[in-house]
Amino acid sequence: MAEGTTRPTVALVDVDALAANVALLRQVVAPAQLVAVVKADAYGHRSPLVAAAALEAGAAGLAVALVEEGIELREAGVGGPVLVLTEPPPEAAEAVVEHDLTPTLYSEPGRAALEAAAARRRAPVGVHLKVDTGMHRVGVEPDRLLELARAVADSEWLGLEGLWTHLAVADGSAEEDRRFTAVQLARFAEHLGILQSAGLRPAVRHAANSAGAIAHPASRLDLVRVGIALYGELPSPAVAEALALAAPGAALRPVLSLVSKVVAVRHLGAGERPSYGRLRPLPTPSWVATVPVGYADGVPHRLFGGGGEVLIGGRRRPLAGAVTMDQIVVDCGPEGDVAVGDEVVLLGEQGGERISAQEWAQRTGTIAYEILTGIGARVPRVAVARDRSHPHRLGGR
Ligand SMILES: *Cc1c(COP(=O)(O)O)cnc(C)c1O
Repeated sequence: MAEGTTRPTVALVDVDALAANVALLRQVVAPAQLVAVVKADAYGHRSPLVAAAALEAGAAGLAVALVEEGIELREAGVGGPVLVLTEPPPEAAEAVVEHDLTPTLYSEPGRAALEAAAARRRAPVGVHLKVDTGMHRVGVEPDRLLELARAVADSEWLGLEGLWTHLAVADGSAEEDRRFTAVQLARFAEHLGILQSAGLRPAVRHAANSAGAIAHPASRLDLVRVGIALYGELPSPAVAEALALAAPGAALRPVLSLVSKVVAVRHLGAGERPSYGRLRPLPTPSWVATVPVGYADGVPHRLFGGGGEVLIGGRRRPLAGAVTMDQIVVDCGPEGDVAVGDEVVLLGEQGGERISAQEWAQRTGTIAYEILTGIGARVPRVAVARDRSHPHRLGGR
C-alpha cells in the first residue's frame, strides 16, 4: 500500500523497465539521439520520476507539450534540455526563459514575445522552429518558414537551434501511409535546403515520434522524440513488426501496472446480476469479488461491454457487471479460490498472464495512449525497481 493512502489501488511504475526501453530504443536509432517525451505526466506514469530515470538511462533530453509541464520538471530539480512541443503563449514567454526551457516557435507573435522576454532577462534562448509538412495541426506554413528563421537568427537574444516537423501516419502499414511519410520527409529536406541556401543551418533536425523512430529509419535524422515506446507500448502492429526486424529477439517492457486487492467476496446464485443496470446474469453459482477501482481511476466504463478481464490468482476472470466510478465486480467462478486481500492485476502481469493497455484499447475502441494517460489522478504512482522491497510513493497530485 502506498504511503498516505488507505485504498489498495496503486499504479506501479517499473523504473528498470523504463531504463531498459530507453537502452533498447537508443540502440535502434543510433547514431540519432533519443529525447524522452514526458508530456501528460509522462503518459500517466508521473513526470519528474520518469524524466529523471530516462536521462539517467541515456536520453539526450526531454520533451513536454506545455510550459507548465516544463516548469514542473525544473521545480522537481530535473536538469537537461527540455523541449516544449507547442509554441508558448506570449504570456508564458517569461517563464520559458526563467526555467531554461527550449521553446518551439511557429509564429511571429510567438517569436516576438520570446525575444522580448529573453532581452528583459538578458538571457540567450535557443529555439526550435516547427514546420508543417502535412500533419496540419500546428507549425509554420512552409512559405513563411524562411522569414521566421531569419527573424530568429537575426535576433540578439534568440538562436536557431533546431528545425522539426511531425509525421501524421508513421504508424501506418498501408502503401499510401508509407508514401505520405516519404512525402513529409522530402518536404522537410527541401525546407532545410532553403534555409541552408540562406546561410541558416539549424544544428538539430528532427521528425520522428515512436513510430517514425522504429519503422522509418530515414526519419531519425539528429534525434527522435519517443513517447509511447518508452512506456512499453507500440502505436500499431506495423511498428511492432518493424521493431522485431530492427532488434531481433528484443522486446519493450511495459512500465505501468495497475493493481488493487479484493475487498469483498460473496457467493451468488446462477442468474444473479451484479452492479448497475443488472447487465449480466451469472452463468453458474459463482463467487463474485469486489475490487476498489473504477472509471474515476481510468478503468474504462466500456471495458465491461468489451469483455474486460482482470487477473486474480494468476487467472483471467471476467467482469461480472458494469464498471462503476469507484469499484468493479469480478466473476471468480464456482471454485471459491478467491479471498479478501488477494492481489488483483488490472494492467500488468500475474502468474505468467498479462493484460496490456493495448488489450484494453482494443476492447474499448481506443488507443493505448488514451488508456495510459487516463489512469486517474487519484491513483498513487509507486516506483518499483529491481528491489521491490523498497517502493516509494511518487510526488505530486
Ligand atoms: C506526443 C508527441 C510525440 C511522441 O509521440 P509517440 O507516438 O508517443 O512517440 C512526438 N512528437 C510530438 C510533436 C508529439 O506531440
